[in-house]
Amino acid sequence: KLDSHPSGRHFLHIPGPSPVPSRVLRAISYQTIDHRGPEFGEFGKAVLSNLKKIFKTDQPVIVYSASGTGSWEGALVNVLNPGDKVLFYETGQFANLWRALATRLGLHPEVVGKPGQDTWRWGVDAAVIEERLRKDTGHEIKAVCVVHNETSTGVTSNIAAVRKAIDDAKHPALLLVDSVSGLGAADFQHDKWGADVTISGSQKGLMLPPGIGFNALSPKAIEASKHNKMPKAYWAWDEIIESNKNGYWPTTPSTNLMYGLHEAMEMMLAEGLDNIFARHQRLAQACRHAVAAWGLENQCLDKDTFSPVLTCIATPEGLDADKLRKHALEKFNLSLGTGLGKIKGKAFRIGHLGDCNELSLMAALSGVEMSFGAMGYKPKASGVVAAQEFLK
Ligand code: PLP
Repeated sequence: KLDSHPSGRHFLHIPGPSPVPSRVLRAISYQTIDHRGPEFGEFGKAVLSNLKKIFKTDQPVIVYSASGTGSWEGALVNVLNPGDKVLFYETGQFANLWRALATRLGLHPEVVGKPGQDTWRWGVDAAVIEERLRKDTGHEIKAVCVVHNETSTGVTSNIAAVRKAIDDAKHPALLLVDSVSGLGAADFQHDKWGADVTISGSQKGLMLPPGIGFNALSPKAIEASKHNKMPKAYWAWDEIIESNKNGYWPTTPSTNLMYGLHEAMEMMLAEGLDNIFARHQRLAQACRHAVAAWGLENQCLDKDTFSPVLTCIATPEGLDADKLRKHALEKFNLSLGTGLGKIKGKAFRIGHLGDCNELSLMAALSGVEMSFGAMGYKPKASGVVAAQEFLK
């Protein structure tokens, strides 16, 4: 496919996988070593220690050779029992996919969302969770599942508020949080926010190729995993936690991806997590200036939950988002994110996460703007100019 673009680079602006920095690609190319040898144990310990800083936790972080979906499954099968009731908050397609996975595992999900609104355009309303938990006087709900950064809609929810809602309802449910696309791009504080399991993946804010997944744990989650009856083998935390004490894994870890993970975390810690989050906020703001200038709507209607990771743009009648994306790819070698689930064709997404800077964002905005003409869409004003004005 890339042969049709003999010069220049591909602009990968989907909200993950995100571009992999050259430094990380080089690290991945180092020679594979013995994953049971002495060198690997030291390396494994360094990776696990840095991961705690990224998740902001003192507790174990499980590393799976898996995508985010595998890590969703890992979280559920370690802390729940067959037939358990689980409360899902619907923010978009990823909340739905996680809920579908829970159903396949034999759990009983109940779904809540933003009352009286299209719940795909808002962040998690913690009051809805609190109200539902207060009614659950028999404590049948065993876990609350929320998506921190909903990648299908560009909404980042307040996880501390969800923790507070559970505590205020005096409910013992575990809090399971998907931060597959939030981690490393939007602030995430596993311990302080009281998450019991945080699920994440390698291919978004961590700037790695897909293939590694994570579960960050809490003491309460570890305790639950010791007594739960869900069938589990590969996903079971106990043997992994034991091996990790010496920097090893019970099965063969993704050695080369882990070299990349180590390198990416070194880069992130050197830049400083707060600086990274501020950079993401700034680029997201620039992108929103462009969207407003184009006369288009942000899929997210709540300014307090605009995502720093990606912007999802709702397209009006007559502007087919997928045709626009196709044009941008074929003509300008620019990949934009498709609308997912019920907003397919009606929205497209611009990723501004990971190894992204002002000029890479400007290229994406420019590619979108240059594609409008071919779609017969006349923007209100230039989004490129609006973003430039903001950034300069
Ligand atoms: N959760 C969120 C928020 C995601 O964005 C994704 C993937 O984009 C997933 C879960 C699923 O992860 P994967 O596709 O790596 O299995």
